[in-house]
Amino acid sequence: SFELKPANFFESNPVIGVAPIFEKDLPVIFACRDDPCPVKLNLSAGAYRTEEGKPLVLEVVRKAEQQLANDLSCDKGYLPIDGLADFNKLSAKLILGDDSHAVEENRVVTIQCLSGTGSLRVGAEFLAKHHQQRVVFVPNPTWGNHPFIFTLAGLYVEYFRYYDPQTRGLDFEGMLEDIGAAPSGAIVVLQSCAHNPTGIDPTLEQWEKIRQIVRSKGLLPFFDTAYQGFASGNLDSDAQSVRMFVADGGECFIAQSFAKNMGLYGERIGALTIVCTSQDVARKVHSQVLLVVRPMYLSPPMHGASIVTTILKNSDMYKDWTIELKGMADRIISMRQQLYEAIQARGTPGDWSHIIKQIGMFSFTGLNEKQVRWMAKEYHIYMTYDGRISIASLNSKTVPQLADAIHAAVT
Ligand code: PMP
Repeated sequence: SFELKPANFFESNPVIGVAPIFEKDLPVIFACRDDPCPVKLNLSAGAYRTEEGKPLVLEVVRKAEQQLANDLSCDKGYLPIDGLADFNKLSAKLILGDDSHAVEENRVVTIQCLSGTGSLRVGAEFLAKHHQQRVVFVPNPTWGNHPFIFTLAGLYVEYFRYYDPQTRGLDFEGMLEDIGAAPSGAIVVLQSCAHNPTGIDPTLEQWEKIRQIVRSKGLLPFFDTAYQGFASGNLDSDAQSVRMFVADGGECFIAQSFAKNMGLYGERIGALTIVCTSQDVARKVHSQVLLVVRPMYLSPPMHGASIVTTILKNSDMYKDWTIELKGMADRIISMRQQLYEAIQARGTPGDWSHIIKQIGMFSFTGLNEKQVRWMAKEYHIYMTYDGRISIASLNSKTVPQLADAIHAAVT
């Protein structure tokens, strides 16, 4: 008789092991999850927490959701391939500014994507298909997902110098040198503010020099804007680097996320903006981006886009949002200050001023892997092995706990 034997493709497949990327920082997450210590402290995750250590849903977001729930004209139909039209218009305005010439001249393409990551990936897929130069330069270090996003889209990732471990600051000379040596047409990924993982941003004067070198060498800037408003507390200040590039009339890609600044992490809402040099080019680019999206996921989800649009459209809600956003940014800035003062008060050796000089959600503490492991074991404090902590996960109660651990780790 014929015995049906199901195939087993993956058990004997030598290629399938645990992916090395997940072997690196996942143990931190698992070790923290499995640590029964009641005062354990997880500083590895990049999500905002309140002073009480809780995730935050903004009040203005709750209000927008209520309004949407009561609006019987809202249905659950498909959005177009490029998402909600109003969302796209308002998102472009938010990052480029109310008076953007590029918007007025109809040479901006914006499409709703799945948060910052999805926007980066759609942009990367478009470039892999339509851009002749396939090399992408990213900062060293950068957000861990960047190399994967661009490589899997079929591009080649190289690094430019960014962080100087000696000064725990920006290696500006090295950055300019490496960007200046990039081949013509190369894509340069720039984090517009609140650099992840270092918390170090160029000054406006430095941004201007970066712009000059990017433009003079004929490179293509691709901004990753995951933290607009989260760095300084002001949406316009945090958009200045991007606006500087767009103002010169050149081409520019921007991947925008509402995960952090509206607290919409799980809604996966963001946008890809491509600034073109003419309306005619924009029309062609738009049609080709649709062709990237359609076979990938057909069209984006509606709920997050509806929330963002409701808030951006209504001047009262917009104002409420900016107040709540500033509240989050200010709390982070105040946690930096408290941590710095607590370390100073303990007489911990070394210069820790980088903690207050850095900006945004993260601080690159300068602690090494051995110290990180030791702090997890002895103090139940968890961070990524590169010594990055999420300042947004600290509060007044946990700052002394962390300062004690840092003091003990370095003395
Ligand atoms: N870029 C950077 C620099 C980030 O830190 C993050 C989030 N960690 C993202 C993009 C993407 O976030 P999301 O896809 O949730 O918008």
